[in-house]
Amino acid sequence: VIDRDRLLERIETLGAIGRDPEGRLSRIAATDADKAGRDQLVRWLTDAGLEIIVDRIGNIFGAWRPDRCRHAAPLMLGSHIDTVVDAGQLDGAYGVLAALEVIEALKAGGAPVSRPVMVGAFTNEEGARFSPDMMGSLVYAGGLSPDAALGSRDRDGVTLGADLARIGYAGTAEPGFARPHAFVELHIEQGPVLEREGAAIGVVENLQGISWRRITISGMANHAGTTPMSMRSDAGLAAALVTTFVHQQAKAIGPRSVATVGALKLEPNVINVIPSRATLTVDLRDPDEAKLRRAEAGLAAMLARTAGEHGLRIETERLARFEPVAFDPDLCNLIETLATERGLTTRRMTSGAGHDAQMMARLCPTAMIFVPSRDGISHNPREHTDPGELAAGAQLLLDVAASLIGA
Ligand SMILES: [Zn+2]
Repeated sequence: VIDRDRLLERIETLGAIGRDPEGRLSRIAATDADKAGRDQLVRWLTDAGLEIIVDRIGNIFGAWRPDRCRHAAPLMLGSHIDTVVDAGQLDGAYGVLAALEVIEALKAGGAPVSRPVMVGAFTNEEGARFSPDMMGSLVYAGGLSPDAALGSRDRDGVTLGADLARIGYAGTAEPGFARPHAFVELHIEQGPVLEREGAAIGVVENLQGISWRRITISGMANHAGTTPMSMRSDAGLAAALVTTFVHQQAKAIGPRSVATVGALKLEPNVINVIPSRATLTVDLRDPDEAKLRRAEAGLAAMLARTAGEHGLRIETERLARFEPVAFDPDLCNLIETLATERGLTTRRMTSGAGHDAQMMARLCPTAMIFVPSRDGISHNPREHTDPGELAAGAQLLLDVAASLIGA
């Protein structure tokens, strides 16, 4: 069984590391604060008798490799310990520390196991300083070369490679050195669904695909009083039409499709001048690739129509595009079954946020377990999950791990 008090204590201890002078938790990747957090994690892993492996992108692994099965593909559990600025103490850290707790419980249990178990803490999941986010797991899964990632620069021009070396976490293992038998990530939901529905466990079936675009609409600035409505090329009007269009289109496509115009700038941005230019962003998401493509195609057609009808020039630029990720159905069923056996209510869900698990899904059967987030808040010091819910999630992770390695 999970040692609930030890888990909660470690979450508190790690959460106290990397506080800035104002007391805000900011353990940004490859900073001194990150180093302090990593050092603490490595002490715990070492104390647990695990083999420490650091790869070239700075991912930290603690491996339990019993002699009788040391060459079998390992079960990997984990998440990340870097944070955003002014973060809560659960995002990422919970999944890593629960994974450590699981290995300690398995070791203490003494049952023979059929494969090694590893806890992984991936570098720069948040992407607060270096791009892209989920970098350590992306590199581990072979989606980005280690050298390209290490060459990523922060705003001051410092490379990730230089700062990983500076803090002592430029390891030597080649990312991807162990191809896992399976990967499971336990994480807080970061949304309100579980709490609202009174469910204890989220069985994450998939992760949304994301399509980001910047749209620039060019029309004609003119006098707001003297230009007849029929003679306008109003970029601001077109921006408003795009905003309502993507909203209505998402609702028409289905309940899991979402669309947001989050940034909008008008020029010249003056009360009595028809806008000559509008720059806006569109964020489209859907767990179904076909539906996401339908949303993108619908938007493209609408833009072409609007340009023609209003005498505008409309240009678009792709900012990001990720296909949806489906997690392993057998693992999802296993999580659901074991949760039910523990008397925990479950809900199948889609993750609206990115996670290391989506990268690891390229390598091996992968799944995620969510626990509730109070008021759905994360990336904020008010991030909170009840201790009982944290312990229940960790216990479920132990049950899943034990089932996967025959303990
Ligand atoms: Zn996270």
